[in-house]
Amino acid sequence: MEMHGLATIVFGVFTLLLQSCLAGVTVDPNGYIVYCPCMGRFGNQADQFLGSLGFAHAVNRTLVLPAWVEYQRHSIKSIQVPFDTYFKVEPLREYHRVITMETFMKRLAPTIWPPGKRTAFCYTARRSVNSEEKGGCNAKEGNPFESFWDTYGVEFDESEFFQPLYYSTDSPHEMRRWSEQYLPSDFPVLAFTGPPAAFPVQEHHVKLHRYVQWSDATATKAQQFIASNIQERPFIGLHLRNGIDFKNACEHIKDSPSMFAAPQCVGYRSQYGTGTYQMCYPDDEAVVKQVKKEVKSHGAKTVFVATDDRDLISKFSKVMKKVKFVRQDSPADPMLDLAILGQGDHFIGNCISSFTAFVKRERDANQRSSSFWSFTPTGRHVKEEL
Ligand code: GDP
Repeated sequence: MEMHGLATIVFGVFTLLLQSCLAGVTVDPNGYIVYCPCMGRFGNQADQFLGSLGFAHAVNRTLVLPAWVEYQRHSIKSIQVPFDTYFKVEPLREYHRVITMETFMKRLAPTIWPPGKRTAFCYTARRSVNSEEKGGCNAKEGNPFESFWDTYGVEFDESEFFQPLYYSTDSPHEMRRWSEQYLPSDFPVLAFTGPPAAFPVQEHHVKLHRYVQWSDATATKAQQFIASNIQERPFIGLHLRNGIDFKNACEHIKDSPSMFAAPQCVGYRSQYGTGTYQMCYPDDEAVVKQVKKEVKSHGAKTVFVATDDRDLISKFSKVMKKVKFVRQDSPADPMLDLAILGQGDHFIGNCISSFTAFVKRERDANQRSSSFWSFTPTGRHVKEEL
């Protein structure tokens, strides 16, 4: 009898150990955060990635690193690019526990989040055109929602509305409520329909960017581009966000002067100024004039231009004859543009753009200088610096 009891205990301990170490991947007893980066393009996704990382840290669950969602010109469906194609996983672990979505789905999901037990978390019900599920999260309704979860073969079985809880990571009380309401033993995985984070990135999460480091493959591509095209330094990188979508969006700045990524310039309490149309969509003459001025002050020999539309290189070249202007061949790879902009001796970007914001955060983390189109900070911090 005693032997039988001992054997049961040994077997139990063995099973526990096995469960917590599935195929070399240790199970986090505190559970996981999974989400679809279903809002916006890369700049938006990167902002919300930092918030999601901060959220996972605050609720003390492992963050499952989702693929980046990309949109192709002639396809309605998004494509999913694994997180580690562009960024290293290891540096993130200095801040918090993370695992890629691919590893999570392959190694852990079959046991701790098996089909039949997959609950979608959303703040409130999402509308559905196709689904039979009325009033649920409808986590796979629309693009990129459907493509994202399909990439991993995920179907949802239930919906869970988490309101009134919210992602206020600066409130320990609010974070405790998450842990109390969703015990890891009952909910090992909180799978969110969208990112559990605000846009733009909250002020206290901006510094997390230092854990976001380019993968060797992307960093090498950037170095190769620089070695082949930018022989003479210093070089200034420009981000021109002048496509028609942005022009239209900028019309709204009168009513929303802190819109999109504007807080990177005007501050989170508008303490350094206010967003203007000219900051959002500067006219070409103002851009040329500013580049000329900054080329002179930095003694730049080369200017790298990243743009979603017009590169203005012919206008620049007319008034800066000794400067070499370079860009990627069209269509330019956005991730390569970002990685090159991070390397410049100076950078000029667009206050309102979250694509610029990615570059600015990376450069700040590496103590590299940046400025913005048609923006001179005013107010408190200028006085503080004096
Ligand atoms: P935002 O709209 O400027 O806040 O930034 P997002 O990244 O959310 O969306 C803009 C998208 O336009 C980017 O993700 C890129 O796909 C594209 N884009 C914007 N600026 C550039 C650029 O300088 N170079 C390239 N290659 N693409 C850009």
